[in-house]
Amino acid sequence: MVQPQSWEQRAEEFSMYGFTDLPSVHERGTVVVTHGEGPYIVDTNDKRYLDANSGLWNMVAGFDHAGLADAAKAQYDRFPGYHAFFGRMSDQTVMLSEKLVEVSPFERGKVFYTNSGSEANDTMVKMLWFLWGAEGQPQRRKILTRKNAYHGVTAVSASMTGKPYNEVFGLPMDGFIHLTCPHYWREGRDGESEEEFTARLAQELEDVIAREGADTIAGFFAEPVMGAGGVIPPSKGYFQAVQKVLKKHNIPLISDEVICGFGRTGNTWGCQTYDFMPDAIISSKNLTAGYFPMGAVILGPELSDRLSAAAEAIEEFPHGFTASGHPVGCAIALKAIDVVMNEGLAENVKSLAPRMEAGLRGIMERSKNIGELRGVGYMWALEACLDPATKTPFDSKLSVSERIANTCTDMGLICRPLGQSIVLCPPFILTEEQMDEMFTKLEAALNKVFAEVA
Ligand code: PMP
Repeated sequence: MVQPQSWEQRAEEFSMYGFTDLPSVHERGTVVVTHGEGPYIVDTNDKRYLDANSGLWNMVAGFDHAGLADAAKAQYDRFPGYHAFFGRMSDQTVMLSEKLVEVSPFERGKVFYTNSGSEANDTMVKMLWFLWGAEGQPQRRKILTRKNAYHGVTAVSASMTGKPYNEVFGLPMDGFIHLTCPHYWREGRDGESEEEFTARLAQELEDVIAREGADTIAGFFAEPVMGAGGVIPPSKGYFQAVQKVLKKHNIPLISDEVICGFGRTGNTWGCQTYDFMPDAIISSKNLTAGYFPMGAVILGPELSDRLSAAAEAIEEFPHGFTASGHPVGCAIALKAIDVVMNEGLAENVKSLAPRMEAGLRGIMERSKNIGELRGVGYMWALEACLDPATKTPFDSKLSVSERIANTCTDMGLICRPLGQSIVLCPPFILTEEQMDEMFTKLEAALNKVFAEVA
C-alpha cells in the first residue's frame, strides 16, 4: 500500500525553496505552518513557535489580528480588485496615498504602488533614470548603495544589494556601486574613533563621486538600519555626513524603509530616528502589517514635482504593475497604519525597546561568546564570536549562528541567523511575558551551542 506522504515530504517534493539551506531542510524537514496566535505560529504537528522574526520582519500585528482580516473581507466584498492605469484607480488607493503622504516626513508628496519592496526599489531606480533622461542628463544612471545592503531580488534591486551571493546570477549589473558598510565595530580601523570612521566613509563617497563623475550618478539608496545585512545601525553622524556630500553633487538620497518604516525603530520612519530628510522613501512589509503583498514609493516634494513634470512632458510615466494600488491591499494598509499608530503597537515598541535592549545586554554579559549587541527599537542582533576581545569570528564551517537558530527552533523560538549574528525583530504586539520567553529560550540555545563549539 502506498504510504500517505508527510507534510514535510510533500513540501520538498513539489517546492523550489528560496533563501533556504537545502542540506539543513533535507535533514531537519520543513516547518509547515497552519495558523498563528498573536506572535506565535503553529505547525502541522501542533507545535507552537514564538516568531521573534515577525515572519520576515513584517507581521508586526501578529498572525491573527481580527481587525486586519475584517478590513480585507469588507473590501473583498465591496470591490475585490482593480488597477491604477488609464486614469482609473480605486477610492481606497486615493485614500491610502493621502494617508501615506500625511504620515510621511514630507510636507507634500506623491505615492506609487508595487507588489513588493524589490519592485518598489526597481520602480524608484526607473523613476530616477526617467527623471534624469527627461531633464537632459540621460548619462546619470549609476546607483550608489553599500556593501551588505539588502534592497531585494529583482535584477535591479539584487544589483543594489551588496551581498556576494548574487554573483551566481552574474550580478550586480554594471553601474551599481557598493560603498563601505557603516558598521563601526567591524569596519572601523585600529585607533579610529567612530567620528573618524564616519568622516572616512563620507570621504570615500566624495572620492567615488569624483572618480565616476557626479553627472553619471542617478541616486544613493540606503536603509536607515541595515536589516538583512545583520541589523546594522549607522555609525554616529553617518547620514548627516553622507547627505552633505550628496546635496553638494545634486544626488538624491532614497531611504529604503521596507523594514524600518512604520515603527520598527521606535519612530514612524527610520530617517526620523537618525534625523535625516530623504528625497523619497521606499516602503513595504509593515505597510500592510504583512497581510497583503504591497510596496510603495513615497516621493518627497522635489522629486514629486520633477517627476510629474517629466511625465507631463511625454504625457505619461510608462510604468506600473497589474496590482499597483490594489484596493484590498490599500484597505488593509489603511487599517494596518491605524492599528500600528493608534492601537498602541508603535507605542509598545517605543516603551519596551529599552527592556528588550537590557534583556539582550544581560544575555551578552553572561556569555563569553557574544562580541556585539546592536540595534534599535524592535530590531536587534547579537554577534557570535569565538573571541570577542579580538573580534575573532567562529570558523564559518561550524555554522554557529545556524546551529543557534536551529536549537531555538527546536525549543519553539524562531530567530534568524545572519552571518554570525542572531537577529531578533519580534512583532510589535510582543508582551513583557513573551519577551521573557524569548530571552529564556535564546539564552538556553546560545549556552548549548557555545558549549559545543567554543
Ligand atoms: N528592501 C529592504 C530593506 C528589505 O529588507 C527587503 C526585504 N527583506 C526588500 C527591500 C525587498 O522586499 P521584498 O522581499 O518585498 O521584495
